[in-house]
Amino acid sequence: MSIQVKKNLVSEAKYALKCPNAMSAEYITIHNTANDASAANEISYMIGNTSSTSFHFAVDDKEVIQGLPLNRNAWHTGDGTNGTGNRKSIGVEICYSKSGGPKYEAAEALAISFVAQLLKERGWGIDRVKKHQDWNGKYCPHRILSEGRWEQVKAAIEKELNGGVSAKKASSSAQVYYVKKGDTLSGIAASHGVSVKTLQSFNHITDPNLIKVGQEIKLSGTASSKSHAPSSYPLPSGVIKVTSPLTKGTKVKQVQTALAALYFYPDKGAKNHGVDGVYGPKTANAVKRFQSVSGLTADGIYGPKTKAKMEQKL
Ligand SMILES: [Zn+2]
Repeated sequence: MSIQVKKNLVSEAKYALKCPNAMSAEYITIHNTANDASAANEISYMIGNTSSTSFHFAVDDKEVIQGLPLNRNAWHTGDGTNGTGNRKSIGVEICYSKSGGPKYEAAEALAISFVAQLLKERGWGIDRVKKHQDWNGKYCPHRILSEGRWEQVKAAIEKELNGGVSAKKASSSAQVYYVKKGDTLSGIAASHGVSVKTLQSFNHITDPNLIKVGQEIKLSGTASSKSHAPSSYPLPSGVIKVTSPLTKGTKVKQVQTALAALYFYPDKGAKNHGVDGVYGPKTANAVKRFQSVSGLTADGIYGPKTKAKMEQKL
């Protein structure tokens, strides 16, 4: 059963604006539209406006609409004129993400099937599927990220790709749980009838306070003595919970990563958004901005109140 794609392609007169370069795609990039327009409206707006922003497909609860030919690039990933996202990836926008609800859920389900179909047609694996955030750090697809479901969405695509058989389930009987916003390892342990120590052992978790939204937690398996302490934190696909007191170095990185996850980038223009482990003026400023919108004294000092507020929002 294949998904039919409706075409409403941009006119060649607008190629220079919307899709100036020939493309041989290597990836598929998933977005959330961050509005509540239908796929038909998304595409007709995109091909009709004077902005260079562009993408190949919009998917809503009913249909998939294509706006650009697949042998042309689109400007959708913010990684620059020669960025791999912009020049080598097919952009898929999932509609109705602003408000969510049943229409969004149906759109996401159709997008999952559609992306699986694109992969299948090309003989590609799940490793070709990227989120917008992978290319330039933008918090997109925002709804999937904020609900901590990126790994689940990928697993669902992979399942469809493998003809409805989950690769994970086929290869292993291990049960897994995906960390949601607000979860703690002790909570996950309690609700699955295992000890925190057991989960730490199965999952090589050194610090039980450091779990990320979207992280896969094995609930069964073989305990291992191998453990590796995380030494640095790249910008996460989910969020790192900051639950230990701030000292320096790595701890500063945790705070900076948390700030970035909440959009209070320590240094938006810098590499890794300025996550460098140095609590300098830019980090203090980001903390200040966070404090001022959180009803706290905006002093730029990361103390217990700021820590508590940040944990609450993560
Ligand atoms: Zn996006």
